[in-house]
Amino acid sequence: MKHFPIFMALTGQSVIVSGGGEAALAKLRLLLKTEAALKVFATDPAPEIVAWAREARLTLTRRAVQTGDAQGARLFYAANEDDAEDARVAELAEREGALVNIVDNLNDSQFITPAMVDRDPVVVAIGTEGAAPVLARAIKKDIEERLSPRLGLMARIGKAFRAKADALPFGVKRREFWADYYAQDIASEDEANGALNALLDQHLSAQTKEGHVDLVGAGPGDPELLTLKARKALDEADVVIYDRLVAPEILELARREAIMLSAGKEGFGPSMTQDAINEMIVTHARGGAHVVRLKSGDPTVFGRLDEELEACDASGVAWNIVPGITSASAAVAALGQSFTKRGRNSGVRFITGHDTKGFADHDWKTLAREGEVAAIYMGKKSARFIQGRLLMHGADALTQVTVIENASRPEQRILATTLGELEPTLTHAKLSGPALVFLGLAPRAALNAAQQHEMEAAI
Ligand code: SAH
Repeated sequence: MKHFPIFMALTGQSVIVSGGGEAALAKLRLLLKTEAALKVFATDPAPEIVAWAREARLTLTRRAVQTGDAQGARLFYAANEDDAEDARVAELAEREGALVNIVDNLNDSQFITPAMVDRDPVVVAIGTEGAAPVLARAIKKDIEERLSPRLGLMARIGKAFRAKADALPFGVKRREFWADYYAQDIASEDEANGALNALLDQHLSAQTKEGHVDLVGAGPGDPELLTLKARKALDEADVVIYDRLVAPEILELARREAIMLSAGKEGFGPSMTQDAINEMIVTHARGGAHVVRLKSGDPTVFGRLDEELEACDASGVAWNIVPGITSASAAVAALGQSFTKRGRNSGVRFITGHDTKGFADHDWKTLAREGEVAAIYMGKKSARFIQGRLLMHGADALTQVTVIENASRPEQRILATTLGELEPTLTHAKLSGPALVFLGLAPRAALNAAQQHEMEAAI
């Protein structure tokens, strides 16, 4: 971000526009919405400017900017539509301490004016740092359509009602009240006041809301693979407690005011004890917060969900599970395969390479049979152990094995190999992200060229 958006207090502040043509008019139309003391310098001002001066909406000086004119000015617009004159006045204004914008000259400007959606006091500013003005216009149009034309009126009336709304306890209750108010479509000031009073009565008489915990699956990484329920929970969360594997793009979706707490866990390698995590969840929920416990993939798959549910139950905290897409589902989709296939396998296993005691033991004899399909979570470090056990129990060394790293993320990689070659192939590939090992599955033959190349390079 080269430009940081801020909203500047301009009431009574001096703002200067140098120029009297179209460029100056465009800026003045925006600036006239503010309460700034506007000064225009122009030798040949457009009739609109003259009219505004007559209405005392700005002061007009019929000459070019001179030394001393910009003293004490907050903002200065060079809008002469003449590069040399713009450069001259910009330098002068900058020396005199004003922040300078040269119209249509991003590089020499100290600030830029965003595209705006105006529902005063609600203002949406859109900027692309000059990269895509067309996009800025499209976004503006989209937001214009989405926001009620009466949103400004509602916000002004809402603001005046704030002191009354303080009768509700700070936090969840007050927020719900405002959310209910802004969810209504209101036609007039009277209607807005009526709605506010009715809503306040309703909320004051409602029972004090208790905290609760949503145990939410964040999916394998691609934010588009979140469920609508997960989105909603993130939108409404007071506290989000997330695991290390949850993608940053997903954390970005949480309500801005939510407290974000990392539980720092990855698989079975905790960097914060499970007890400490349980305690964190329960403490926040008992304080009345809506806690979202965000886990990668599906929370019910190798997610240590039960410990957390038991902790909630033990403290009388209400909970709800929001399932997610487990990483194996995303990974098998990336292969263009299905987990089960008529004539090949009538069942599939989700197993872990690791458990609390170290490498996990399984029914190797069954897994070694032809046609078996298994998704092995946390299988990177245990790959050699799994390979050895399966071969020892009679598995064919040519059994197809595929490793998918970072399934559904932009850095996704696929390694197609065989059981006999799983190691050292996996070690050589030096994977750094989360990975699943699929036993008995290969990528569908018609892979695109890029993936083919990736595989060949990796093997
Ligand atoms: N609840 C999660 C699994 C947690 S255990 C789920 O349903 O997916 C952590 C293991 O999940 C990792 O070691 C890795 O094997 C797997 N994993 C999680 N995200 C992954 C991803 N995007 N790509 C590949 N494997 C992933």
